[in-house]
Amino acid sequence: MDLDRTRFGPAGYPSGAPRKEAFGYLRKLGLDGMEYQAVRSVPKNEELIRWIGDEARENDVALSLHAPYAVNLASEDVRKREASLGRILAAASAAQLMGAGHVTFHPGYYGQFSENEALRMAIDSLKRLRALMDARGLNIELGPETMGKPSQIGSLNDVLTMAEEIEGIVPTLDFAHIHVRGRRRLRSEEDYARILDRIEDRLGTLNGLVIHFTEVEPTKSGYGERRHHELGSGYGPEFEPLARLMIERDVKWLVISESPLLEVDAVRMKGVYEDARRER
Ligand SMILES: [Zn+2]
Repeated sequence: MDLDRTRFGPAGYPSGAPRKEAFGYLRKLGLDGMEYQAVRSVPKNEELIRWIGDEARENDVALSLHAPYAVNLASEDVRKREASLGRILAAASAAQLMGAGHVTFHPGYYGQFSENEALRMAIDSLKRLRALMDARGLNIELGPETMGKPSQIGSLNDVLTMAEEIEGIVPTLDFAHIHVRGRRRLRSEEDYARILDRIEDRLGTLNGLVIHFTEVEPTKSGYGERRHHELGSGYGPEFEPLARLMIERDVKWLVISESPLLEVDAVRMKGVYEDARRER
């Protein structure tokens, strides 16, 4: 999405203030982003949606929006695929009304299909979705998220392929998911650098990305996430090496904290990022 600078904020309303005061509170904390959570359903109340957009603008908070979880673009059941498109479409309408620049969504599951077949189905679904969006004048960026479980469509390769093949698609990078899908693969700055190189290679730029960050406890098998943890929990991945690369490569990102300490850890991530800048 269009970003004037790197911004930080929580996944959803901050926990330290009533909702009516959420955006002023974010500003007071020095935060300037938020991903609105429409993960169960998309709000239909236009007045509420406009209010969120106005409050965010007045307090200089850049918004993305997380679409409902109930999406499977590669379901074998055509009705479920259509319902999935409908949910992302509703999310895109709300995002446009709210002034959110990016809609994050979970692409779905491989199910009984091979990984490649499921990816092809998801891409066909997304092409249909883009056409439906065009017909409604919705020019919102769609962000398939990197997912944590090997059964989920959303490997780094999956989301980069979607972005290459369809206009208006820019992946949402969830680093905790990348970490646990690869059995805790993000251990050093080089590990992060390899991921960023792949993205830059295939998208042509690293700018304007929406990223999710939290430390994460893997499941017993080592694949997939068991639970999110606060920064410094020891579970990893660590934010410091990524912050150094963000400065080195001079990227503009919307960094969304998915830590259990939502806005508290968003403030800490911003601090780590600013320290990394001073140390260079
Ligand atoms: Zn998500």
